[in-house]
Amino acid sequence: MTTPAAASATEPRDVVAIDGPSGAGKSTVARRLAEALGFAYLDTGAMYRAVTWGFLQHGCAPAECAGEADRGEQRMRAALAAARLDLRDGKVWLDGRDVTGHLRTREVESQVSAVSALPFVRAAMRDLQRQVARQGPIVAEGRDMGSVVFPQARWKVYLDAAPAERARRRSEDFARQGREVSTQDVLDEILVRDRLDSTRSDAPLRQADDAFYLDTTGLLTDDVVGRLLAFVRGAAATGGSA
Ligand code: C5P
Repeated sequence: MTTPAAASATEPRDVVAIDGPSGAGKSTVARRLAEALGFAYLDTGAMYRAVTWGFLQHGCAPAECAGEADRGEQRMRAALAAARLDLRDGKVWLDGRDVTGHLRTREVESQVSAVSALPFVRAAMRDLQRQVARQGPIVAEGRDMGSVVFPQARWKVYLDAAPAERARRRSEDFARQGREVSTQDVLDEILVRDRLDSTRSDAPLRQADDAFYLDTTGLLTDDVVGRLLAFVRGAAATGGSA
């Protein structure tokens, strides 16, 4: 994987860039919005999770290598350079293997914020994300879509929700996967991830200045999708971005 250039004025603008903290409902909403618009859907959290899973397989995730002189950086760089990451058919493939089912484990979740704070990982992911956007219109969700990866995006959205509601939604996700995790534990983990994601120096979670802010607390998914569709179609009709 190569080092990406900064986003230029020639980068595609047909991007709905959706950012926000864990559990704000980004994935469900972004997937449905992409379907409704006929755009491709890009889950950038899944990319960081897949890289984290790959590092865990190589025994070089940050917590495992904390005692090494370079904190495992050389091994992580080598693993990343050799990795073939592919998102298609709603699945994530690493080196030709479908790893989708491994991405939401607590092991991956406990390491993903440390992995995604590494500038060389972010540089490689940004490059891939921009390559995907060059192939056609997309709805891309993550933490730095509107602020860093696609600053030229025609539509930027920041989805938020109260921490207790975000924890409740995440525990429901876990329950659907057959995993019982207390809402308090999920809340604690979410708050740790939020802190790490919003305080790192490279591309921290933040709302882009020109993003449409929507607090989804108490809203049904249908309502959120409806509001975002109106936003995208309204902005498209007026030629504006927010
Ligand atoms: O969105 P999701 O919860 O799957 O993201 C998992 C993690 O990946 C986040 O907590 C964050 O550390 C990282 N991430 C990121 N930048 C993105 C998307 C996700 O740093 N654009």
